[in-house]
Amino acid sequence: MDHRVYADNAATTKLSSRALDAMMPCLTDIYGNASSIYTEGADARKIADQARADVAQCLNVRNPNEIYFLSGGSEADNWAIKGAAELGLKKGKNHIISTKFEHHAVLHTLEYLEKHGYEVTLLEVHEDGLVRPEEFEAAIKENTGLATIMFANNEIGTIQPIKELAAIAKKHGVIFHTDAVQAVGTVPVDIEDLGVDMLSMSAHKFHGPKGIGGLYVRKGIRLPNLVHGGAQERGMRAGTENTAGMAGMAEALKESCEVMQQRNAKLEKLRDKLIDSLLTINRARINGDRKHRLPGNVNMCFEGIEGESMLLCLDLKGISASSGSACTSGSLDPSHVLLAIGLPHEIAHSSVRLTFSTETTEEDIDYIISVLPPIVEKLREMSPLWERIIADEDKK
Ligand SMILES: *Cc1c(COP(=O)(O)O)cnc(C)c1O
Repeated sequence: MDHRVYADNAATTKLSSRALDAMMPCLTDIYGNASSIYTEGADARKIADQARADVAQCLNVRNPNEIYFLSGGSEADNWAIKGAAELGLKKGKNHIISTKFEHHAVLHTLEYLEKHGYEVTLLEVHEDGLVRPEEFEAAIKENTGLATIMFANNEIGTIQPIKELAAIAKKHGVIFHTDAVQAVGTVPVDIEDLGVDMLSMSAHKFHGPKGIGGLYVRKGIRLPNLVHGGAQERGMRAGTENTAGMAGMAEALKESCEVMQQRNAKLEKLRDKLIDSLLTINRARINGDRKHRLPGNVNMCFEGIEGESMLLCLDLKGISASSGSACTSGSLDPSHVLLAIGLPHEIAHSSVRLTFSTETTEEDIDYIISVLPPIVEKLREMSPLWERIIADEDKK
C-alpha cells in the first residue's frame, strides 16, 4: 500500500517549496542579528521588514507595525487575551465573552483568567456550529471589556460572521479578538474590512514553517509587554528575530493568497463529493453547517464506531486523519467542540475529521471513498454499541 493521503491539514501542513526557498538564505548566508547596525545585521533587518510588509499587505493591514511576529497561534491567543484582559481591568471591566468551541489556546487561557477573578461567558454555538450575533449582543454587559470569537473552527470548519460580530463589539466599546489560525491563508481575510481589533495567525497552518505566527493589534490598543528584554517587535516581545521563520511565513502567505481562489474552488468540489458519498452510509452525519464551512474540511460521525479505531484502520490504508483536535488525542474525553454542538458522548466519539490542502487530488478523494465505508462496516461488525443501536431500531 504505497498510496498515502495526508488528510490532516487542520493539524499542520507541508512546508511549501517556495517558503523553504525564502527561508534558506536566512539559515545560511544571512545569519546576522537584525538589531546589529553593520551590513550582516542590515541584511537580516531587510528580510524581517519585508516579511512584515508582505504579511500586512496580504491581510489588508495598512500599517505593517500592527503585525507582531510571535512563535505561533497559541502565543498570539495568549497575548491577545491576557493582554486585553489586563487593559480592561484598568477600566473596571473584568467580563470576557467567548464561545464554547474555541481552541484550547483560548479556552485554557480563559480558565486561567477566571481563576484570577475575571468573569467569562461562553456563547452557545448551536447544532450548526455558528454563533448568533444577537446572542453575542445580549451577552454584553456594562463590565464587558473583551470578546474573543474564532474565525473558523479547527474541528468542524464552521466560519463565523466575524465582521458582524466585530461591529457589535465596536458599538459597545468592547475589544474584539479573533483566533483566525484556521482562516488566514485558507479563506480571504481582509482585516481592514473585518474591523477586528486583534487577530491571531500561524504559519504552519498555511504551508509555512512551524514555530512562527503573528498577532495583528490595531494601533491604539496598548497591550502590556509579552516578553521583557530587547527592543524587538517594538519592544513588546523581546528576543532576536526569527528571520527564517518570518521570511517563510510571508512567502507561504503570499503563495496561499495567490492560489486561494482556484484552490478553494477545487477543494469545495472535492469536499462536497466526499461528504455526499459518505452520507450514504447508514447513520452517518456531517458535523457543522455545510455552507459556512472551510473549503477543505470534512467532519463526520459514523454511529457505533470509535473514531480512534477508525484512525488506526485508515492509517493502515495510508490515510492520515484525525478524530477531533490533535491536542486532545490521548485523552478519553470526547471533543469539546462536538459536545458544544450538542452531540451525545458516544456519537461524538464516533467522529472523523479529514482536512485537505492544495496538494489534495481527486484521486485522493476517490481513494478515501473506496476505503472508508468498508472500514465503517468492519468496525460496526465488532461493535457491541452498534448491535444495541440496531436492536433499538428493530424495536421501533
Ligand atoms: C493550530 C491552532 C492554534 C495553535 O496554533 P500553534 O501555532 O500550533 O500554536 C490555535 N487556534 C487554532 C484555531 C488552531 O487551529
